[in-house]
Amino acid sequence: MKVQPVVPRGRVPAVMRRLSRAIDGLDEPAVEKIANDQQEDPFQVLIATLLSAQTRDAVTAAASERLFKKARTPRSMAKLTVNEIQRLIYPVSFYRHKAVHVKRTCEQILTRFGGQVPATMEALLTLPGVGRKTANLVLILAHRSQQNICVDTHVHRISNRLGWAATRTPDQTEHALYRATHRKWWPVVNLYLVTWGQNVCRPVYPLCDSCVIRDLCPRIGVGKVGKSK
Ligand code: SF4
Repeated sequence: MKVQPVVPRGRVPAVMRRLSRAIDGLDEPAVEKIANDQQEDPFQVLIATLLSAQTRDAVTAAASERLFKKARTPRSMAKLTVNEIQRLIYPVSFYRHKAVHVKRTCEQILTRFGGQVPATMEALLTLPGVGRKTANLVLILAHRSQQNICVDTHVHRISNRLGWAATRTPDQTEHALYRATHRKWWPVVNLYLVTWGQNVCRPVYPLCDSCVIRDLCPRIGVGKVGKSK
């Protein structure tokens, strides 16, 4: 990893405070919504996060709802066939692979973890299809960890635009953010930046002209910007 940028003192809290106000009223990310609706049920957070990879939020939410209507626990979901799971979660991206991962994850939760979703990074990473992004989100949303940052594509992109990280991968960004931000922000980095990334700091044509943190953002790597409606 390259030498990481030094973030000006006070910059991170100023950005986070403004974003906490600005995201009020915007749609929250699908997995956050599912976590809230299901009282932070670790199993449903885990499965919804597995389904969400490279999939639009509306599709993730609808697929999760269909699947949870059929089976809400590792035991009942493990009884579904891979084909049934595929049919229920289609059209999420990579639904064939994800159906296999869902089934195997349920089986392993039953056989290796006594039916409970594990609460450590090490154990979560042994489950099929679970990477750091999924594990961090489960730890934050379902196990109320204050020690983790969940970095997906939005958090990775915006952190680099803001100059909080100079990284090539989300995993590198996660480690850069542990150094660049105070731990009080770690549990909400994902919620704030994903919501901003879905609505304003979009992958292409970000809406910089109407962005509430424009004066705090060096806009590193940003080309053409979009126009607000
Ligand atoms: S100013 Fe532009 S690049 Fe910076 S956070 Fe806002 S939308 Fe993103």
